[in-house]
Amino acid sequence: MRSFGADTRLPTLAVVLDIIRERGAVSRVELADATGMTPATMTHAVRKLTALGLVHEVGTVPANRGTPRRLIGIKADACYMVGVQLDQFAAVGVVVDLAGRVVVRHDMPGAGKRALADVVADLAEHVRTMLKDAAVPGDKVLGIGLATYGPQDREAGVVITPHPTPEWTGYPLAATLAEATGLPVALENDATAAGLGVQTLGGSGSSFAVVFMSGGIGGGVILDGHPYRGVTSNGVELGHISVDALGADCSCGNRGCLDPVAGPRPVVERALENPALAARLGLGADTLTDFNLIGRAAREGDAEAAALIADSAQRLAVATVTLVNMFDVGRVVLAGQAFSEAGQLYRDVLEEWLNRSVFMRHVHTVEVALADDVAQAAALGGAAVVLRNLLESPNPELRGAA
Ligand SMILES: [Zn+2]
Repeated sequence: MRSFGADTRLPTLAVVLDIIRERGAVSRVELADATGMTPATMTHAVRKLTALGLVHEVGTVPANRGTPRRLIGIKADACYMVGVQLDQFAAVGVVVDLAGRVVVRHDMPGAGKRALADVVADLAEHVRTMLKDAAVPGDKVLGIGLATYGPQDREAGVVITPHPTPEWTGYPLAATLAEATGLPVALENDATAAGLGVQTLGGSGSSFAVVFMSGGIGGGVILDGHPYRGVTSNGVELGHISVDALGADCSCGNRGCLDPVAGPRPVVERALENPALAARLGLGADTLTDFNLIGRAAREGDAEAAALIADSAQRLAVATVTLVNMFDVGRVVLAGQAFSEAGQLYRDVLEEWLNRSVFMRHVHTVEVALADDVAQAAALGGAAVVLRNLLESPNPELRGAA
């Protein structure tokens, strides 16, 4: 088995914690093997995580010589994080413990074209209800990770997109939600968050790409256990890779972009141009609901619906070749609400096309997989972002940890 993406960087506390979570119980020597660092460095990292109250000793195993090796495990109830993924058409909220388990989940309405103050008030109300349902001590809640689409100014917590209404451009979404909930709020790109959510569940390796599709198409890349952010965290905008140099002008400023020809919106628009199809499928709700109805019909053998999905999947596959060629990853994970019904159809088209077309196919294959829960992945990753930000701060401190 060939391994992809050996870690050549210093492991952060977050990476060490990810390995402990994924393996359940692990010795310092095993951690050193997994990260390529010395046992002394791991001892230092484990000491820091222990001081924060995030890990503890869970047993010992006999060593070949000398004293038995002590095993380190996660303290699942040390702290809790809230993750929210917000889109125009849908939103998902989760409360997650340190072991990555979802304690409570809420499916919520998307932003729609409501005033942003109303959207924030609604989100805050859901967060309060979720925390009440989760019955976790308030001082153990680290904060909220809010995953949404770009462009955004992650550092400032400000959204810059003109969609769905001009009010979003320059809106201080993180600060407003923080004020409404009394919790710190971190903003994150939804596709990047989905990658972190997939990583929380383990099993995807340390380097992979994410194709995220909800109201639109996004992309994310995790390299050596770290999200690739670019200079301003707006990297890997898969939906605005051009698939037609002579195509129509896109609102982003580019031409022939993927999203306006392959995303849920154009698929639904094409379906609505066919009155018999629209009536047969009961279309006429919002874009995401309609798209998932088309996806379900395609899965169940409706030829016209299947043709629309196949067209979208083929275009997405061509753009994903570019993504894989640029980052040389061996795995692509699909996440986002738009893969709820047609995810398997997209998976099959992408895997076939990637293994026929990527530049490095003679060196390694590319595996395409659906996230365990496509609709929840980005919210789970939002929760992971809260913990990551804490562990990557210069002097991490945990409120409420014993
Ligand atoms: Zn564009």
